[in-house]
Amino acid sequence: MTTKRRFLPHVLPPVRGAFRLAGLLALLLILHAASGVRPVVAQASGEAPAVGAVRFGLHEGRTRLVVEVERGIAFTATALDQPPRLVIDLPELRWQVASDGQPRGLVTGYRYGSIEQGRSRLVADLSRPFRITDQFVLPPRDGSRMFRLVVDLAAAEPARPAATASSGEPRPPRARPSMATLPAPRPDSPPITAPVPRRPVIVLDAGHGGIDPGTIGVTGVHEKEITLRMARELADTLRATGRYDVVLTRDGDIYIPLRERIALAREAGGTLFISLHADSIADRSFQGASVYTLSDKASDSEAERLARKENKVDIIAGTDLSVHDPIVTSILIDLAQRDTNNKSITFADTLVDDLGAVTRLLRNTRRFAGFAVLKSPDIPSVLLELGYLSNPDDARLLESPTYRSKLARAITAAIDRYFTALR
Ligand SMILES: [Zn+2]
Repeated sequence: MTTKRRFLPHVLPPVRGAFRLAGLLALLLILHAASGVRPVVAQASGEAPAVGAVRFGLHEGRTRLVVEVERGIAFTATALDQPPRLVIDLPELRWQVASDGQPRGLVTGYRYGSIEQGRSRLVADLSRPFRITDQFVLPPRDGSRMFRLVVDLAAAEPARPAATASSGEPRPPRARPSMATLPAPRPDSPPITAPVPRRPVIVLDAGHGGIDPGTIGVTGVHEKEITLRMARELADTLRATGRYDVVLTRDGDIYIPLRERIALAREAGGTLFISLHADSIADRSFQGASVYTLSDKASDSEAERLARKENKVDIIAGTDLSVHDPIVTSILIDLAQRDTNNKSITFADTLVDDLGAVTRLLRNTRRFAGFAVLKSPDIPSVLLELGYLSNPDDARLLESPTYRSKLARAITAAIDRYFTALR
């Protein structure tokens, strides 16, 4: 009974055993009631809590992963596919794991460690598509002082290729096959739904997010914040025309691998893909917007540097696009992509015209390079660098809602002209 006093220190006098048990049950109910991120049961302490063990087991037909931590902490479990991986995001922990369990069930391997200041992560590889069936925290018991973070996993049906359309009717909205394996929606991140593809579907891709801040501006603003604000503003402006359906690859501060962004665009029936970014560079005098399209050969060393930087994000998070993506490795810029690439170039040129009317453009504003996120074989795609966050003027402008709304109107005008010309 002494162990219970660790987390119910002052609730009830130690002699009232039955009441203490009731308190414990209430705590357990609270822990089970919340979904997604579990409540923090931790006491304040200067030092990050230590991880004692990582274990795997089979539990009622499910694969169970248990991380033993000396404090109750909040965590988020996320399922990713292609390849199937479980990502558990955690606060800063001391990974002094005395007992590394043997992978079992669906899990074939795993790794863990610090991912940035204040955050750590455990990534498990799975043998097949799966879903997270439950995640919760259990308090210490049986004389152990360790809390247990528990994630239960079950095999999911593998994603099937899109059904062939039997008529000219638009395909009904289809649940994204891998939707079950996406993270549970957060309060600020409504689920992304695939619209019926009658109107053009504009996919807006706010660069970076979550553990990946992108570049950090002279004002301290993160690229991921600017890109999300711009994507939301542009989405509102486009929707207000009544002419477009708009899909955001992310609508919250979450990390999405580059290939997931492409997959989302394709499964939403995207007609045009716009990836939003902001650059930074040592020379603070650089400023202005620029528009990039895909090429296997960069237009200049500056474009090559930028593509390397923008492609790096997945390597940081452990999901290198170039290794796993059969699309990228097999049909990059081949004949099948030529039509898509021509359309991308047409839209990029249109976009430069309309942006040039309202904002300063970088010299040589139309560039091309091997951006991984532009590698959809069938969706015209451009990457828009909104400006330089390393430049005080650009940073100030991009943080201004008035300026972003001006940009949104210019981009919408370019989209209008592009689709009008296609008719
Ligand atoms: Zn970026």
